[in-house]
Amino acid sequence: MKVYLKSDEEVELLREANLLIGRTLAELARNIRPGVTTRQLDVLAETFIRDNGAIPVFKGFPNPYGSEFPASICTSVNEQVIHGIPDDRPLQEGDIVSIDCGTKLNGFCGDSCYTFAVGEVSEEVRLLLKTTKEALYKGIEQAVAGRRIGDISYAVQQHCESRGYGVVREFVGHGVGHEMHEDPQVPNFGRRGNGVQLRDGLCIAIEPMITLGAKEVFLQSDRWGIVTRDKKPAAHYEHSVCVRKGKADILSSFDEIESVLNNL
Ligand code: MG
Ligand code: MG
Repeated sequence: MKVYLKSDEEVELLREANLLIGRTLAELARNIRPGVTTRQLDVLAETFIRDNGAIPVFKGFPNPYGSEFPASICTSVNEQVIHGIPDDRPLQEGDIVSIDCGTKLNGFCGDSCYTFAVGEVSEEVRLLLKTTKEALYKGIEQAVAGRRIGDISYAVQQHCESRGYGVVREFVGHGVGHEMHEDPQVPNFGRRGNGVQLRDGLCIAIEPMITLGAKEVFLQSDRWGIVTRDKKPAAHYEHSVCVRKGKADILSSFDEIESVLNNL
């Protein structure tokens, strides 16, 4: 495992790549409604990212099965947890869609995800989204110098499992920098005081993937999409953060997304 700490200059470049994701997802937020397809959202995202001088890093990203991801964003609808391929099925009232986006700008990667409600969703789904986002910030609270990866993992797991939600085990957060996936891994489950010690300048993506039902997932036949085995919905929120003394520096942002959502 090779963990590399970022200089202040590198952190600022990471921030630029990550803030572009927030702006991209805000652009999508303006367009998410019943009837829109995830393929349309993908076209919007790719255009926006490239118009801003960045590269959508998900496009062409390889998987272990020898295929390359065909789109610029992952759009995971309802029981899809992550890695959903955008398609021509219109979103429907009551759906949720997790939109994960990766950018590369000036040699550094951004990685952030937000789960959107399409129109009105059921109360249990609304609470799933709320709890998953809360868990992300509970994890971020632990991303301070001197603590360990397991402190983040435990905080996320504890927040979700104590409320009866499932925590996906097979996919985890990660270091982020020149590469979208760097060491160390950042699981959403674990024990306090375990794992790599967090040091000032360590940049990681924290990304709880939380299910309304059981935690078990499987791979779809397209060899990308990950879905819950019980077909119940799942949510996914992700921030890239820099570990600092006392308080993490959140490099991505939901501010613009939420200002769009609050004014719809
Ligand atoms: Mg991501
Ligand atoms: Mg990630």
